[in-house]
Amino acid sequence: MKAHTYETQSTITPEKALEFLKEGNQRFVNNLKANRDLLEQVNATREGQWPFAVVLSCIDSRTSAELIFDQGLGDVFSIRIAGNFVNQDILGSMEFGCNVAGSKLIVVLGHTKCGALKGGLDAAQIEGMGMDNLNHLINHFNPIINDIIEENEERSSKNSSLLERLNHQNVRSAIDDIRKQSSTLKNLEAEGKIKIVGANYDVETGVVTWL
Ligand SMILES: [Zn+2]
Repeated sequence: MKAHTYETQSTITPEKALEFLKEGNQRFVNNLKANRDLLEQVNATREGQWPFAVVLSCIDSRTSAELIFDQGLGDVFSIRIAGNFVNQDILGSMEFGCNVAGSKLIVVLGHTKCGALKGGLDAAQIEGMGMDNLNHLINHFNPIINDIIEENEERSSKNSSLLERLNHQNVRSAIDDIRKQSSTLKNLEAEGKIKIVGANYDVETGVVTWL
């Protein structure tokens, strides 16, 4: 499999970009990695890059976008932050990926058993550990947790139903934030030049489910 070029990138539609990732995850799950010479791809991409997608995923060591979608060098912009949410700098990275570098698809990829979301549910305990910056990060999930938690439901990472609902709602919330906070990306989507989609990676099976 060859690295993408300006010519191949310009013929890819948002639907095709999504298809590439779906096929890549199928190969990953079936242990049928595409035949790809990474060193040759280093050489092929020495003058530039034409990735077809931007993937926002968690820092979790099990959720590397290139591995789970079976992609090579120059294929995807990979943005990672614990809990796969957006902030202004991440939105700036997405605007670069789509509006400057020509990517056709944004994927917000959550995953099962996410430690960052567990931390959000157990915020009271984490706060006791005195890590100001980690506290800042996990506080991001508070409004989402408050929205979805039922009356008298236990707020804890041990509550697997709540953790799963939080994972899905966190992905939806990131997609809403992209549309609300980036007029550039919202307009590209409205013009049909990009697609913005959510997905969930199952750390037990390797399967990506599209939301
Ligand atoms: Zn995670």
